[in-house]
Amino acid sequence: MPDDLLLRLRRFHDDAFPRYQAHFRELVAEGQRPLTLFIGCSDSRLVPHLLTGAEPGELFLVRNVGAFVPPYDQSHGFHGTAAAIEFAVLSLGVRRIIVCGHTHCGAIRALYSEVPREAQNLVRWLELGRDAALPVAEPSEEALRRTEQRAVVLQLERLMDYPMVRERVERGQLTLHGWHYVIEDGEIHVFDVGCGGFVPVSRAEHVGTGPYLPCDTEAELDASGIPFADG
Ligand SMILES: [Zn+2]
Repeated sequence: MPDDLLLRLRRFHDDAFPRYQAHFRELVAEGQRPLTLFIGCSDSRLVPHLLTGAEPGELFLVRNVGAFVPPYDQSHGFHGTAAAIEFAVLSLGVRRIIVCGHTHCGAIRALYSEVPREAQNLVRWLELGRDAALPVAEPSEEALRRTEQRAVVLQLERLMDYPMVRERVERGQLTLHGWHYVIEDGEIHVFDVGCGGFVPVSRAEHVGTGPYLPCDTEAELDASGIPFADG
């Protein structure tokens, strides 16, 4: 009995690929020119192409635990996410960066619980979401949702510390977008810095904003600089 995965690979090659063949050959001949860098959580329930209807060649994807953005600390380590951001912005010239968290995120829940001691890299990685955590020991579902959303905004702020990102955002060549995917509803909620919270796309008038305000409503930010989320 062949492995089910082997059957799926054959099915793609035999049945699905012929429909895309011309498109892929064009992408090979002319190279990829994705306009969007999508930084999403690795969670198997978050399926970017399904959500956005993106075709091959349209999304440059980075997935990691929590959809976190590491600091631009010039430590020059094996920083896969930072390398991908540099490549997407400097070499591909993407026009927008989406940071996409989601409901029931294990990385966010782990901010409130014990992580196996042998997962040393994971323990360190989760620090990238620490500032989004609320001061509660046993978070309610609502507190987890708020933490997930605050974590998205935190990553957007950290993106602005990347010089090549900040320059392009300030020149209007690049836009940042914070998304929170509600798995059970199949709906993205977009961060709107104007209202300081997340708005479901059914009511939103845009696909989300970056972390900074065009006008000054800084009073709506809390001490950490993260807007209060209410959605
Ligand atoms: Zn997650």
